[in-house]
Amino acid sequence: MNLAFKKPAQALRSLDSIAEALLLPSGIDGVYARTAIFEKVIDGLADLISSYREDKTEVLRFPPVMSRRQIEKSGYLKSFPHFLGCICCLHGDEREIQANVERYEAGGDWTGGLSAADLVLSPAACYPVYPLAASRGHVPAEGLIFDVACDCFRREPSKMLDRLQSFRMREYVRIGTPAQVQNFRSRWIKRGERLAAQLGLNYRIDQASDPFFGRGGKLMAMSQVEQALKFELLVPIHSEQEPTACVSFNYHREHFGATWNLCNASGQIAHTGCVAFGMDRLALALFATHGVEFAQWPTRVRQALMV
Ligand code: 5GP
Ligand code: ZN
Repeated sequence: MNLAFKKPAQALRSLDSIAEALLLPSGIDGVYARTAIFEKVIDGLADLISSYREDKTEVLRFPPVMSRRQIEKSGYLKSFPHFLGCICCLHGDEREIQANVERYEAGGDWTGGLSAADLVLSPAACYPVYPLAASRGHVPAEGLIFDVACDCFRREPSKMLDRLQSFRMREYVRIGTPAQVQNFRSRWIKRGERLAAQLGLNYRIDQASDPFFGRGGKLMAMSQVEQALKFELLVPIHSEQEPTACVSFNYHREHFGATWNLCNASGQIAHTGCVAFGMDRLALALFATHGVEFAQWPTRVRQALMV
């Protein structure tokens, strides 16, 4: 694998200096209001990614919350319990709920009365698609392709603008035989590179691992690298030394297939994979590379995004 960036080092705009034009603080680290210029780029990116959609892809848009039961069954608590946000509400009868409100109004804490609902904040866009596909019966011989997206939450407060707690993810998901999923991922790595070049971004592809939790997580990360399950498209946003992952290309092997009993007509467990676009990071990468004035962006990049 060629680990060099495609272009020579170039001057990057400091994100802090352009934040005012892009992302406005909410008082919570990693949670921002997005400006019109930022959203224009997000919309352009969404359309550009759609233009690469393969035939026979089913489009689904998920809400920012999903079933707690599904995320538990997916093994998320084993791998990333530190990222997970669970919806908690005031349950009980009117009298019990009122008691919490009164405690707050008297200057006390109302949150002690919260208890977990049956919802979590989705940590990635593809989790709900596997149980949904499994509920429809056998995976057909040609496999399945989905185009999914949602607002995602990960509990990683940071002052860095490319590390958000609430961010948008768009994914293409493949369900099928190992060969179908591996071919899909190879195609998408090439397409991801084409897309980055079209956007005038400097980039490289590298192997990666997920930030698994705890001591056991180190072993999981090592095994992920050993099996080459994850690749990322890295773009310098702060620096070339510490580039930012803007797209990931993931092969889950039989993990979701076995969890949800996703299998073909002869009973073979399906393999799955996904390509995940970090929409906010791609937009930031564009602003860091080309600046905040669209008039100064290369014409072909403006045309690709219609900005
Ligand atoms: P993954 O599931 O591979 O960790 O995430 C998929 C993509 O979502 C990443 O390649 C990245 O572009 C985006 N992403 C992951 N974490 C964050 C984050 O903290 N902030 C933002 N803005 N994007 C993220
Ligand atoms: Zn995914």
